Amino acid sequence: MSDLYLRLVNTPVGKTAAQSLGLPAPVPLKRLKRVDQPFIEGDVLIGAAAGGKAVAALGSILGASAATLHHASGTESLKDSSKAVNKAKPLELTGDIDQKFSALVFDATGIKSPDDLRALYDFFHPTIKKLGTNARILVIGQDPQTCRNAPQAAAQQALEGFVRSAGKEVGKKGATANLLWMAPGAEKQLDSSVRFFLSTRSAYVSGQVVRISKGTATPATNPVAPLAGKVALVTGASRGIGASIARTLARDGATVIGLDIPPVMEELQKVTDAIQGKALACDITDTAAPKLIADFVAEHFEGLDLVIHNAGITRDKTLGNMPEHFWDMTIAVNLSAEEVIDEELMHRELLRENGRIVCISSISGIAGNFGQTNYSTAKSGVIGYVEAMAKHMKNGVTINAIAPGFIETQMTADMPITIREAGRRMNSLSQGGQPIDVAEAIAWYCSPASNGVNGNIVRVCGQSLIGK
Ligand code: NAD
Repeated sequence: MSDLYLRLVNTPVGKTAAQSLGLPAPVPLKRLKRVDQPFIEGDVLIGAAAGGKAVAALGSILGASAATLHHASGTESLKDSSKAVNKAKPLELTGDIDQKFSALVFDATGIKSPDDLRALYDFFHPTIKKLGTNARILVIGQDPQTCRNAPQAAAQQALEGFVRSAGKEVGKKGATANLLWMAPGAEKQLDSSVRFFLSTRSAYVSGQVVRISKGTATPATNPVAPLAGKVALVTGASRGIGASIARTLARDGATVIGLDIPPVMEELQKVTDAIQGKALACDITDTAAPKLIADFVAEHFEGLDLVIHNAGITRDKTLGNMPEHFWDMTIAVNLSAEEVIDEELMHRELLRENGRIVCISSISGIAGNFGQTNYSTAKSGVIGYVEAMAKHMKNGVTINAIAPGFIETQMTADMPITIREAGRRMNSLSQGGQPIDVAEAIAWYCSPASNGVNGNIVRVCGQSLIGK
């Protein structure tokens, strides 16, 4: 769906009119144009609180990028941290700063008490106004659950409030702010997440916190086709977000089985033919569905690597007016089906080592929504399912969820105009997301290099004002 307001407000006349009327003036988001595009370009400033543990890893990740690196001078822990950071140009944060930064990256893992939080102010206060449009703020902290004492846990938890507020300040520039909470010793697992959050692939992801654990050894990946040799199942793949996920995983090298209900086979076939994938007609709520899917996988492939539970429906009504089949269908499609399909695939050992399961929740599952008790119940259940399953995953398999906000699809096009317009603007970036934004986040979860990313619920919502 096209966003007419976004286009109008970015004309010279529209911009002036929006400014004088105090209306939101969203900046068009830059998205990936070519798969071989560098993940970040321009001037990037790195800083660290004393004792930062991630700075060497950050230096080597950023050192391999096309960016011009600067480091905040006087930052003790940057010394001797990595060749890349040492080669970076020192930048005095007290004087005039000429650069327009494409990213500000801060290693806050060394922060051990509330007093240490001053390092955030010292780094970001002189630089935040120097962020360019579509720029990135990325803070690396230590997962508070792994902190040794209360002051350290408090200070690390405080990073969440900082990043969420910074995201709200920079959103008007189309810029984002996110936080990676590392477990001790998980530095080697930062690579895929740092690349994702600094790149245009995360254009509509802001105000998010990701936990990164030590994971297993990180394999070297082909940067252009990281999913080569992988087999993916995408449910609800005939249109909208599902079609975009199927195309994106195929772009990254995976062979995709697209699944959808029998009445939409023509549309599904078009999607899968274009990516040399396979189409599977199946209603995931049928009792025979898990076996049908498992048999299909066993017949055509030796196993599956990526399972993307995207199929979903809404059947909105206030609870007192809701017919029982609205309740039952919504829970069955959005929640119960995922569980029984995973169970069958795992029972038959069809989900291969280092596999990935990704579920789709929704901000309605986080914040609740008028007229959506059924949908919000199911989408909250998805979060519970992912968090519980993540603790029991074996063989390098991970499970995570995406909670989309307002994404421009048929589902949102069908909304009444006032609700649609409110949904689009009520986020830090003042615009709706595109299906590709959800698909890119799923591709990041699916990367073989993301094996330390497990049990996360990441919102792709432009930092919606609704919910946490
Ligand atoms: P959509 O309605 O465009 O597509 C959903 C797909 O799921 C369709 O192809 C449909 O045929 C398929 N499907 C429905 N029931 C099925 C069943 N029983 N068996 C197999 N396939 C079935 O929706 P979308 O906007 O692309 O949403 C995709 C996912 O993202 C859903 O889980 C949705 O709840 C979630 N989501 C979307 C938004 C948004 O703004 N669009 C926001 C939050 C969450």
